[in-house]
Amino acid sequence: MPDAFVYSIPLSTRFRGIDVREGMLLRGDAGWGEFSPFLEYDDPTAQPWLRAAREAADEGWPAPLRSSIPVNVTVPACDPERARAIVLASNGCRTAKVKVAEPGQGLAADIARLEAVRDALGPDGLIRIDANGGWSAEDAIARIPVLDRAAAGLEYVEQPSPTVEDLARVRRKVNVLIAADESIRRAEDPYRVRDLEAADIAVLKVQPLGGVRACLRIAEDIGLPVVVSSALETSVGIAAGIALAAALPELQHACGLATVQLLTTDVATEPLLPVDGHLPVRSLELRTTLPEADPERTAHWTARLAAVEALGRGVGQDLHS
Ligand SMILES: [Mg+2]
Repeated sequence: MPDAFVYSIPLSTRFRGIDVREGMLLRGDAGWGEFSPFLEYDDPTAQPWLRAAREAADEGWPAPLRSSIPVNVTVPACDPERARAIVLASNGCRTAKVKVAEPGQGLAADIARLEAVRDALGPDGLIRIDANGGWSAEDAIARIPVLDRAAAGLEYVEQPSPTVEDLARVRRKVNVLIAADESIRRAEDPYRVRDLEAADIAVLKVQPLGGVRACLRIAEDIGLPVVVSSALETSVGIAAGIALAAALPELQHACGLATVQLLTTDVATEPLLPVDGHLPVRSLELRTTLPEADPERTAHWTARLAAVEALGRGVGQDLHS
């Protein structure tokens, strides 16, 4: 087996405008790390993604404080029948994240979807909604109480509106907790969310924020409950998310790490898929037959890695000075 390879895996449903997920897996003394910044990201943006991969490959992670991580099932902006079926097929997830505010759909579609999810989940399950920044602050303030009633209680609303200022405004006007997701993309973002008191919960992703230890520092600094989420990775990237969730001093909410099923195949002999609504904290073994990219895409990623590495040598010195 090589020490690095490029994977190319078709998605089971189109997501983020892409049909195929690509990335690179790198092996070091501690194991495998995933470097899979989205294709449109420039080299500086991809730098923390590489730090996260190197941490996984070369150092490994802090000791886990728990042995399994509760995860949510994700319900896309679909009709009520499909929403119900997805919850019932979720392998025991007791938290559902329901997409709302889909362009072209109205409030009635969101209400019907939430009623179906509540019905399938039962009264003691938790429902969070994710608007992906799709509402203006005014719309969010008007709609959140309505959707809170339709769901018979919401755990929280993820990114109701696009900007941190919007989140802060919505948060002051509604009685449902607010989580920041898209507002946290770079390492400095969570501090802004904290300073503007824009959210009750921070969604953290290991690769864009530069690794498990970097995320643990952020979580400690901002003092907000954390929901660990994936960046649509293979089991190797998901393992880093699990390591973060396992090392957080407190974990109050189910994590958004049950995403390996969005890929049509995986790299691990035993992919990190939920059992009884939880992902296990365990090591991975890679398959002997891997979903490797063709030579052209492999060359593209090899060049990308070299460019981001070259950039990182200067920045790495800054970080240690
Ligand atoms: Mg989100």
